[in-house]
Amino acid sequence: MDNRTMIDNFASRVLAWFDQHGRKHLPWQQNITPYGVWVSEIMLQQTQVSTVIPYFQKFMQSFPNVGALAAASQDEVLHHWTGLGYYARARNLHKAAKVVVAELGGEFPVEIENVMALPGIGRSTAGAVLSLACGQSHPILDGNVKRVLARYYAVEGWPGQKTVENTLWQFAAEHTPDERCHRYTQAMMDLGAMICTRGKPDCDHCPLQQGCLAYAQGRQSEFPGKKPKKTLPVRTTTMLALFYQRQVMLTQRPATGLWGGLYGFAETTNTVEQAADSLNIQDYHLQELTPFRHTFSHFHLDITPVLLMVEAPMRRTVAESQQRWFSLDDPIEVGLAAPTKKIINEIKQML
Ligand code: SF4
Repeated sequence: MDNRTMIDNFASRVLAWFDQHGRKHLPWQQNITPYGVWVSEIMLQQTQVSTVIPYFQKFMQSFPNVGALAAASQDEVLHHWTGLGYYARARNLHKAAKVVVAELGGEFPVEIENVMALPGIGRSTAGAVLSLACGQSHPILDGNVKRVLARYYAVEGWPGQKTVENTLWQFAAEHTPDERCHRYTQAMMDLGAMICTRGKPDCDHCPLQQGCLAYAQGRQSEFPGKKPKKTLPVRTTTMLALFYQRQVMLTQRPATGLWGGLYGFAETTNTVEQAADSLNIQDYHLQELTPFRHTFSHFHLDITPVLLMVEAPMRRTVAESQQRWFSLDDPIEVGLAAPTKKIINEIKQML
């Protein structure tokens, strides 16, 4: 089978499945207009069909055409959206309706460039509206189609990445038929929503099982690829646990910022010797403690704790007035950050 035949075969299998199982009775599939399909597509962007249906019906009753929507106040439009979430969708829909009325003579455009130029409409939504409402042949790539294609072709990587998305667009375009494109578009959406679902794809009833690489490799759950976890930057610090006669010195941190108001050990990014100098400590015995990593939401902090056993408690300066000695034999009743507690526990075990 040559490449073209395989491609055609993909579309015809999807269409044959649609004829038997696809959804044909959704409210926006009756008395089809570009306006109605547009409204439904925007509502469906982040929301499931069953939730959208009553909202769509009420919205179309109140704003039956693009002129009525343009003439409405934003409050009215948002009121109809209440509960659907992602309100930018409603604001853009309203804004776009005004553009259609003011600049396009009140007729929803039927050229893909003009549709894509409207607020809130990307390539996939524009393609969906024009194929579903006007029978034009345009590919779509919504979340459902991404999942089907990423699995069928075992496309590695997260579709939010441009290169991955471009690959998927290419496959989407290759399979989009010239004939019956409105059915094919609906079929791909239905296939993603009903068969090739996120959690448990029903491969045994899928018209694309033959040729699906994810199925063949048993790797359905690996596609589409997940959004990569952000790699957090790593900072380093040395924590100086000053120790004198079963007491440790802790310093209260400034009220705002990291560990604001909590007590912790003195820190340095210099050498221990330099730090001891700046703290006015002459005689001490140094012992390394166990280094560890503490992770914040926005960075990792690699902590090297050292125990500095001092010969005499140094005098406090005004700037250091937040410093206090705490006996390790009594409970420490001030706020301590987790790393401070961890270091104190290690010291206690050594006593
Ligand atoms: S065979 Fe399974 S994984 Fe492949 S497209 Fe069909 S439902 Fe999705």
